[in-house]
Order: sequence, then structure tokens, then C-alpha cells
Amino acid sequence: MTTVPPAYRATCALQLPSCAGVVDTRRKGVFRRTRGWVENRQAGGAHSVALPEPQQAWACKACITLRRKGVNSQTLWDAADARLRGHRPEWARCPFGGARCLGDVPTKAPGTYRLVEGWAEARQQGGTNTVALMAPLPSWACGHCLDDQRRGIDPGQAVLWAEP
Ligand SMILES: [Zn+2]
Ligand SMILES: [Zn+2]
Repeated sequence: MTTVPPAYRATCALQLPSCAGVVDTRRKGVFRRTRGWVENRQAGGAHSVALPEPQQAWACKACITLRRKGVNSQTLWDAADARLRGHRPEWARCPFGGARCLGDVPTKAPGTYRLVEGWAEARQQGGTNTVALMAPLPSWACGHCLDDQRRGIDPGQAVLWAEP
């Protein structure tokens, strides 16, 4: 029934009831697992991530819609954060190590960035990516490195997966 060419065919990773099953990764409305960075004080409420990094996983719109239904993004974030509690040190080493890097960063301070993962709609335009169902990962980075990394990226090139 599907005529998606193999190069653009992916199986939905969520497989919830009413799942589309196979998705065409070129189409609007298809979501891709995406990692990125958010500043601490934006955690939970924010949906836009810096330095978006697409992962090899896709999901159909029906599954994302179903999973978002009745879910408060702050509650979801807090639950994911609670699961990581034992892996949250007071200080963490910034993984970028740029020229102005602060080195060890306080993980709970405003201005520190946190690695997150969620689902971004494929084919978004521009430098920001809105991520749904965002959950934190145990990695932190300094604001200087984030600024420098972002400056090195042309906003038009940030959505690297837009063109196959
Ligand atoms: Zn699905
Ligand atoms: Zn740094």
C-alpha cells in the first residue's frame, strides 16, 4: 500500500495504537528524534533547542499526537529528571572545551546548558527546532561554548536533514 522509496522509508519508533507504521522521512508531519541544548532556566517550559542534532529514529504524527495528549510538558520533564537524579553531579565538565570554555560548570545554575532529547518535526525551517516530548540527558555545557558553537552555524544550515 505504501510507495515510499526505500531510501526514505522508516518505521515509526513509537508504534502506538493508530500508528502509521511506515513513514516517509521527506514528508511534513514526520518527526525525528533530535538532541539539542537548552539553558537551565528554560528547562521544561521551553520547546526550542540549540544546536539540534538529528538521531536515526523517526515517528509518525499520530503517535506523537497521542503521546502528547493530556501530557503536561513540565510534568514529563520532571519525571525524566527524577529518573536521572543519581546521575546529576553538582559540577560537570563541559564537553565542548572551546577557547572560552569555563571547564567545569555548575549543573543547576542559570546560564548552564543541558542536553535534551525529544521529537522535532522534520523539515522545519531556520535555526531553531521545536522539540516535543523533551526529556533531559545527563550532560551539561557552558554558555560560552554554546554561544561560540551557535555563531559558527549558519541558521540556514542548522536543519541538516532537510535535504537528503
Ligand atoms: Zn507511529
Ligand atoms: Zn564550555
